[in-house]
Amino acid sequence: MKFVFVTGGVLSSLGKGITSSSIGLLLKSRGLRVTIIKVDPYLNYDAGTMNPYQHGEVFVTDDGGETDLDIGHYERFLNEDLSRRNNVTAGQVYLEVIEREREGRYLGATVQVVPHLTNLIKERIKEVARDYDVTVVEIGGTVGDIESLPFLEAARQMGLEENSFYLHVSYVPFVRSVGEIKTKPTQHSVQKLREIGIQPDALVARGEKPLTPEARRKLALFSSLPLRAVISAHDLDNVYRVPFLLAEQDLDNLIFEKLGIGVYSDRNLTEWENFVRRVEEAGERVKVAIVGKYIEVRDAYKSLIEAIIHAGARIGVKPDITLVDAISLESKGTDALKGYDAIIIAGGFGRRGIEGKINALTFGRENRIPTLGICLGMQLMTVEWARNVLNLKNAHSEEFDPDTPHPVIHLLPEQKEVDRMGATMRLGGQDINLVEGSLIHSLYGRKVIRERHRHRYEFNNAYREKFEESGLRITGEAGGLVEVLEWPEHPFYVGVQFHPEYTSRPLRPNPVFVGLLKAALKT
Ligand code: GLN
Repeated sequence: MKFVFVTGGVLSSLGKGITSSSIGLLLKSRGLRVTIIKVDPYLNYDAGTMNPYQHGEVFVTDDGGETDLDIGHYERFLNEDLSRRNNVTAGQVYLEVIEREREGRYLGATVQVVPHLTNLIKERIKEVARDYDVTVVEIGGTVGDIESLPFLEAARQMGLEENSFYLHVSYVPFVRSVGEIKTKPTQHSVQKLREIGIQPDALVARGEKPLTPEARRKLALFSSLPLRAVISAHDLDNVYRVPFLLAEQDLDNLIFEKLGIGVYSDRNLTEWENFVRRVEEAGERVKVAIVGKYIEVRDAYKSLIEAIIHAGARIGVKPDITLVDAISLESKGTDALKGYDAIIIAGGFGRRGIEGKINALTFGRENRIPTLGICLGMQLMTVEWARNVLNLKNAHSEEFDPDTPHPVIHLLPEQKEVDRMGATMRLGGQDINLVEGSLIHSLYGRKVIRERHRHRYEFNNAYREKFEESGLRITGEAGGLVEVLEWPEHPFYVGVQFHPEYTSRPLRPNPVFVGLLKAALKT
């Protein structure tokens, strides 16, 4: 087993996830079997119970894990499905240590962070790593945080047991007033890492500007590294270019040398390069509005934004994406939606902004603007249709009005027994049957598709006939559960109960978004 441990210095949100993903892609491109694990030092068992303001979107794996959004980056760069086991949290390991203690598995011992917790962390990482040549382990948080200490200690110990490469991603700011790149914060952060017993093998310097030779020399000197182990990772307009930036500086070969990987092929990044070029060379612009309520944090819609970019690259258009505040569409009307070529009503939870999303759906439906409802967006598409086309007064989802006379969206049957919030939704991938001859079928070009879910409520089949008679077709189902709605008299009016954004990849854009953007180009 071979490992690359990625730590972070000075600041969070440096792009450690993109760096880890890029390394994963580079190593994979040389013919190795690679996976990436994210270690999150928070005590939540998983990301499912956190709102998107905290850590951005909750990513859902095919096997139903509610994970950190970095798992989404890993899947997009590696172009592979990962498992819930690729996200290890402090909550999971603490819980397991205490459970083992109660079972008597440590009988007689004082149970401690070192070695009991750290051993379990190593166990969890090795379990996943067993099937791969190299495993990249990204350690969440910043060196110096109290929370991440047990994980850094586990990473240090791994170096004694297995072939390991330590890579520190740190902030190297450009200070405008003096026109200089400053290395001091990173020097301190490397010292902090050494205190824990980890000497980095490479430093990835994140900042606005490329490293000057002087800054590189200083960083190398104070981190006890050769010059070639200091990598400049300055801001790029296109994050999908980062693997090339790292490759130009030979980071993959440095990793190979340290890990003693001798036999490998040349980099094969042709497909990736083509994709990156298509993103950059796309000409025509389409204006896409994402209607949601977490608009202050773009990370809340990470996979969705990326999925639109993938689809744009596929058909050669540059999507111009705006997050539109659902709450203001409630109070100020839908004028803010004028001028968009496509509207997406995003998923979500809770009552806030619901009527704004319904107004946006009316606007898209009446003005013939290509409109896609995702999860909650599809449920509200149902509500909007019930109220305004079927004239079912006060129709609603039971989630927001338990006493509605027309519960067109109601609780999934199995959810009635549920009495806790963590990991109890309908989660993960499931096969969906599409109706032949429908729009959705023509987009996928297949009768059976597999997409991922995260919800508690569903379309109420008691209203099925009313909807179909009035023209809103049900064109996708899983068991008896309604997965897709579409209105053939509109250029593109589609609702999906699943989350197509989770399976979209640069090299495999999701057909739903390709269809939406194609329709947007035409109208
Ligand atoms: N709140 C809705 C439900 O639980 C939709 C969830 C979502 O959009 N992910 O069914």
